[in-house]
Amino acid sequence: MKPGKGRILILCAPSGGGKSTMAARLMDTFPRIRFSVSATTRAPRAGETDGVHYHFLTPQEFQRRVEAGLFLEHESFYNGTRYGTLKQAVEEMRDSGYFPLLDIDVKGGLRVRSLYPADSLSVFLMPPSLEVLESRLRARGTETEETIRTRMERSAMEVSLAPKFDHTVVNDELERAWSELRSIIETHLFS
Ligand code: 5GP
Repeated sequence: MKPGKGRILILCAPSGGGKSTMAARLMDTFPRIRFSVSATTRAPRAGETDGVHYHFLTPQEFQRRVEAGLFLEHESFYNGTRYGTLKQAVEEMRDSGYFPLLDIDVKGGLRVRSLYPADSLSVFLMPPSLEVLESRLRARGTETEETIRTRMERSAMEVSLAPKFDHTVVNDELERAWSELRSIIETHLFS
């Protein structure tokens, strides 16, 4: 492992925008990139493990950590569900020379970018269109109609913030988008 503090990789996309696939490829390809496990008050989905996908917290415990100043950023959305990035976990990874990968929402991503202007790289994965996004979200089969509607409204807002990111990759075709993302990381994250 090369010495030196790792930088933060902020990967944002609207829900259903293909973030998890890209995040998994990034970690397979670049051993120094490690997933930063967020905290949330939502219930685990089938196949999700506490401490691996999220730290699943009660609303009381989440609030306690907010008041203790333990979050770098936190957001509340989807009927009050809270999500947040834990400061200490990110800093420990950076200190060990790893590059924390933050798979977080657009507002949170921009907040972290503003906290680490020189030590972060932010990439927005742009869906080819909002229609494609909606059908991907529907195909996932994990959401109710109402949640899909709420998420689509949010997605439109998120897409409008894409120009504030360092890079935008249109996620039109998986292999093409992946090779663009990989070359951005090779050129800009480790340099
Ligand atoms: P999901 O419930 O589908 O896992 O995530 C919903 C949204 O919350 C996604 O856009 C995800 O990226 C975002 N999210 C996950 N962790 C965090 C976090 O720590 N902070 C913020 N701001 N958003 C997060």
